[in-house]
Amino acid sequence: MVVLGAGPGGSTFGKKAAAAGMKVLVLDKKKEIGTPVRCGEGIAEHSEAELGIKVLPNAIASTIDGARVFAPNGKTIRLKTPSTRGYVLERKLFDKHLAMDAVRAGAHVLPHTLAASLIKKDGKPAGVKAVHMGEEIEFRAPLVVSAEGMEAKIAREAGFDAKATLYDVDTCFEYEMAGVPCEPYIDLYFSTRIANRGYVWIFPKGKDVANVGIGIGGNVNQNPKVQLDLFISEHPELFKRAQPVEYKGGIISVGAPINEFVKDNFMVIGTAAHQVDPIHGGGIGLAIEAGNLAAESAVEAFKKGDYSKKNLLPYEEKWRKQTGPKLAKRLMLRKVLEKLSDDDWNHIVGSINEADLDKVLSGDYKPVVAKVLITRPTLLKVLGVLTGI
Ligand SMILES: Cc1cc2nc3c(=O)[nH]c(=O)nc-3n(C[C@H](O)[C@H](O)[C@H](O)COP(=O)(O)OP(=O)(O)OC[C@H]3O[C@@H](n4cnc5c(N)ncnc54)[C@H](O)[C@@H]3O)c2cc1C
Repeated sequence: MVVLGAGPGGSTFGKKAAAAGMKVLVLDKKKEIGTPVRCGEGIAEHSEAELGIKVLPNAIASTIDGARVFAPNGKTIRLKTPSTRGYVLERKLFDKHLAMDAVRAGAHVLPHTLAASLIKKDGKPAGVKAVHMGEEIEFRAPLVVSAEGMEAKIAREAGFDAKATLYDVDTCFEYEMAGVPCEPYIDLYFSTRIANRGYVWIFPKGKDVANVGIGIGGNVNQNPKVQLDLFISEHPELFKRAQPVEYKGGIISVGAPINEFVKDNFMVIGTAAHQVDPIHGGGIGLAIEAGNLAAESAVEAFKKGDYSKKNLLPYEEKWRKQTGPKLAKRLMLRKVLEKLSDDDWNHIVGSINEADLDKVLSGDYKPVVAKVLITRPTLLKVLGVLTGI
């Protein structure tokens, strides 16, 4: 089979499928797997146990104790619980390690190879035409797996509705900066003036190195780089000695997953399938989860010698049951948060505490909404949907 993309989703799929005896080719257009990075590089520590992975020490730039949420007026809630422990990764190494694991399991990994178009036989996917270092090659395969990330070009060619609307993406810009005083917290700054329908993040990668990034709603008329530079200029206490050592950017889905993940001879996994958290745009863990689930179904289909949709469907059914409802709830929260004004943010952050924030993050919205409404009943129209009021 041929897997398109050696990000976390594609390499995870490749490793599991190859370990089960399947002949697997994982190709990626990048010359070097993992580079360039388009990511804040944050991942929760509990993901390791949940996903059955062990992040190697050299792929961990720093460990994180918790998160801090900043309102536009500077008011802060700090959250430090076992579930907020995490890592800021070196994704250049993290992604490469996952690809190396796929190789160790028996997969072939081919960097510098762009999947250019889909090959069809009798109207069904049967491989891809690719370009490897300027040379055109055809890879024929009974199963094609798109782990292409946001581009999802071949998935779209296969008929999947993997194009995201501007409303359902965030456009992002990020510097890796040296000279930023860091504490072991992921910091999130909310302000519609700076990042409408998004936020600014500071993810520490060491004592004085951090990813400093911004995500803004794709349908919003703000330029991410201009807005990030504005934020930096307004926080001299953090950035007076800071200089960028890397520029990064990208687009990430913050909408619903695509409406189907499998067709005959084709599967879509990870960010290509918009399996991304709509609140913060995190998708590393979700891509690994999808890679594992999809490989389980592919292996069963391999044993039957039949990659038709009905044999690939268990992946989609399992995902929609175990992860779909959680992401749907997070999408509902995103659509509420994007309606808040800066004054609402100041009020909410000023009236809830660490335990309340913990409840919101675990999906228990009702008691927190009730608490906020006592002091600002006018928010009922916006927040009511979270409680069914
Ligand atoms: C600015 C930004 C910050 C983010 N921060 C975080 C964060 O802190 N934590 C988090 O969990 N997530 C974060 N994300 C999201 C995260 O990066 C993705 O969800 C995750 O990488 C998805 O993994 P994947 O394997 O599905 O796809 P990707 O990692 O996107 O991998 C797709 C691969 O496919 C390759 N490819 C694409 N098209 C082709 C083609 N036609 N032929 C060959 N190869 C192809 C690409 O080169 C790429 O290597 C962020 C995203 C952005 C844009």
